[in-house]
Amino acid sequence: MEINENLLKNIRKVEPYVPGEQPQNKVVKLNTNENPYPPAPGVQKALRELEYDRFRLYPDPTAKNLVDILAKYYHVGNDQVFVGVGSDDVLAMCFLTFFNSEKPVLFPDITYSFYKVWAGLYGIPYECPKLDGDFRIQREDYYRDNGGIIFPNPNAPTAIYEELEFIEDILRHNQDVIVIVDEAYIDFAGRSALELLAKYQNLIVVQTFSKARSMAGMRIGYAIGDPELVKCLNDVKYSFNSYTLNLPSLICGAEAVKDREYFEKVISEIVDTREWTKKELRGLGFEFPDAKANFIFAAHPDYNGEELFQALKRENIYVRHWNSERIGQYLRISIGTKEEMGILFDSLKRYISKQGDYNL
Ligand code: PMP
Repeated sequence: MEINENLLKNIRKVEPYVPGEQPQNKVVKLNTNENPYPPAPGVQKALRELEYDRFRLYPDPTAKNLVDILAKYYHVGNDQVFVGVGSDDVLAMCFLTFFNSEKPVLFPDITYSFYKVWAGLYGIPYECPKLDGDFRIQREDYYRDNGGIIFPNPNAPTAIYEELEFIEDILRHNQDVIVIVDEAYIDFAGRSALELLAKYQNLIVVQTFSKARSMAGMRIGYAIGDPELVKCLNDVKYSFNSYTLNLPSLICGAEAVKDREYFEKVISEIVDTREWTKKELRGLGFEFPDAKANFIFAAHPDYNGEELFQALKRENIYVRHWNSERIGQYLRISIGTKEEMGILFDSLKRYISKQGDYNL
């Protein structure tokens, strides 16, 4: 039956975010920047010991225990921490709360593709200054009148990390608007912008348990900022989205934060594998900006990005590829275990040698 056109007129239409594939068969999965190692052992223990009778009750809407533990870990007040269902939820709340101006919000043209989706969904005007030819953010592009700023550091999918001096410069030039630094990958990179919180009231730092803490499936994210801003975030959240973090996530999240030693061990293993991966990829002729996240954004000058992506997929190796203008040649390769990366290199070597035969 043909749908009534008048019905459609009143319905909100959005361009949705397209997440990376989650194949159900066994593959080498290097496409969504998950952590190849399990969460801290205490998480498993807490989950095993969780009394299921507790599921009768709603979880704590203020997530107090988790908030307190995060506040202590980061040496901030508990009125400075906001938690949500993954940093996607936190970021969506931030867009709704902080980007409420007629002026455009600014974020890079090549960045986390969800930003455009939230701006579209909430009707927030935005502009996307272009990264330069080396995929770097140009700080001067953010010196103009705007309704707020957001960018990841390290940026995604480029994996480029900017030093704190760069972040501070953007904060200093934009003291009348909120600047959100999305630090989903900061633990693999360098110093966090959290250090700048004491100096800049306009800063919101967003982080996640999905990457360095190996808990993408638990959906835990958080923002840290000025108490007044955090109150505004909570007011918006409680207006339509209560009880969002479920009980197991609250409990497991708190457990994960307690184990600093395990956290640091996992990060150092991934960073080690990343550095080895850079060497191997370079040896195969790939080019990429220096990666500081748990992924590398690489292109080969001799081979088509889409074809490489498909060839890997045929061998059950999943990486991420976007068919878009400036980045169609690139593959975003998450860092897995050493064994997984070895399988990737073998496959790339086979591909390259086959292409060589072809060209003869
Ligand atoms: N920010 C960036 C830059 C990301 O790449 C991701 C992962 N897709 C997220 C935020 C969201 O991660 P999560 O919702 O799992 O915390």
